[in-house]
Amino acid sequence: MSAPLRALLFRRTSEPSAISVHFDREIYLVQVRRHHQARRYTLRIHAASRAVVLTMPPRGSMKQAKEFAQKHGAWIATRLRRLPAAAPFAHGAILPLRGHEHRIEHRRGARGTVWIETHASEHLLCVAGEEAHVPRRVRDYLKREAKRDLEAASRAAAQALGVEFRRVSVRDQTSRWGSCSSTGVLSYSWRLIFAPSFVLDYLAAHEVAHLVEMNHSRRFWRLVERICPHMDRAKVWLDAHGADLHRYGLDARVASRQHMQ
Ligand SMILES: [Zn+2]
Repeated sequence: MSAPLRALLFRRTSEPSAISVHFDREIYLVQVRRHHQARRYTLRIHAASRAVVLTMPPRGSMKQAKEFAQKHGAWIATRLRRLPAAAPFAHGAILPLRGHEHRIEHRRGARGTVWIETHASEHLLCVAGEEAHVPRRVRDYLKREAKRDLEAASRAAAQALGVEFRRVSVRDQTSRWGSCSSTGVLSYSWRLIFAPSFVLDYLAAHEVAHLVEMNHSRRFWRLVERICPHMDRAKVWLDAHGADLHRYGLDARVASRQHMQ
């Protein structure tokens, strides 16, 4: 089949990219994707973004897709309801900064941008300026802190193994916590700033060890364990709580828009 013809058959630019599912007085938005390897209709919920995605075969029909999604309305509603609640960066929200609870306090008239105060045993993440800027200011602050912590942890791990890396970058990846490029760039999710320090340290040790062993062999794990004795505890923590870190900073309005119109 010629490429232009295939594009014509599969692209179908006029077709909607999302369909609405009605269930129990609510309307859920389901994103539709054609996949060349899909043999049947499947539904998935992305925990981090709360997106509901229906995958269908290249030649499947939208009518069947709609029927399939509608038939699974109860499943969509239940799965979305079971996800941990979104915790937007707004006044009063509690964030586990480095694993310790911090409450966001908006101080409109104050000088500065974002800073931490501790009163008695309560930690506050204070944010100055207009309310509309609070989420962006908090996010920028947390990304900077994450980068600083991850740079320090990566430097310590690199020193312990006698290797060098080029630089650290922090991103908002939902699929992985870290990666190591062959050019020596270490990338991490900035959301690790919500995890206890021993977890962040483990991720740094893991990625730095990839500078020596670009695989997950026994030799690789022995290296990680050598510079990170609490490796197992960190892995257990990530399995139990890792998905939860994605709900922070998630805009409640964006999240609810997916099932209310
Ligand atoms: Zn790895």
